[in-house]
Amino acid sequence: MRRPIIAGNWKMHLTLSEALALAAEVRNRCGRFRQADVVVAPVGLHVHPVAARLEGSTIAVAAQNCHAAAKGAFTGELSPAQIRDAGAAYVIIGHSERRQFFGETDEGVGKKGRAAIDHGLVPILCIGETLAEREAGRMLEVVTRQLDAALAPLTPEEVADVVIAYEPVWAIGTGRTATPAQAQEVHAAIRRRVAEKTSPAIAERVRIQYGGSVKPDNIATLMAEPDIDGALVGGASLEANSFVQIVTGALGAESN
Ligand code: PEP
Repeated sequence: MRRPIIAGNWKMHLTLSEALALAAEVRNRCGRFRQADVVVAPVGLHVHPVAARLEGSTIAVAAQNCHAAAKGAFTGELSPAQIRDAGAAYVIIGHSERRQFFGETDEGVGKKGRAAIDHGLVPILCIGETLAEREAGRMLEVVTRQLDAALAPLTPEEVADVVIAYEPVWAIGTGRTATPAQAQEVHAAIRRRVAEKTSPAIAERVRIQYGGSVKPDNIATLMAEPDIDGALVGGASLEANSFVQIVTGALGAESN
């Protein structure tokens, strides 16, 4: 049984006081759920204060990006060591917005994952195809290429602990969610590829989140698919009610 993991990506939203208030509400309303991992990803500047607000709770913090170097002359960047030191347990890498707007490459994402693990962070590795790639029938080719590059620098045991987020780019922030069957098709392909690259036992352990317009009313059907182990949530994580409903929806009857 894989432990569900629901993460809220707050992107470049929220003032510090808004972030702290949202973190406190998530803590108060999700802190009792022991059967899933709940993670929030504030902007880098807020990782430390949000982590401090969540200290002693079951809610973990992720950064939204990291640099691959441990330290150095990289103005404006955050190292994995600094992110870990600030209280985060996870770091999102390879988000499609970083690939699209900041020129991140498959190889660069692989280096970030390696560095994150070296500094005690769990990478949440985002992969996913654009609409044009899907329509050209290249969906699995693209996802496999992104996955292979990110996993190449890791040992099989390290791969087991990576969280993979399948996020079709056409579903992010568009209100157009992949159907459970569309998501399951790719999740199953990702798990098969992980098995080929490591072993079937490792692939069974890897958690694969779906991301792309996840909302309270679609989480349960997505989670009912055998290879969907959680969600990476953007817009709907910015409001406590919808995020908490997604967490409870992901847990189903167990949360009542
Ligand atoms: C995301 O940015 O990772 C995401 C899935 O966003 P949204 O839920 O808003 O589509």
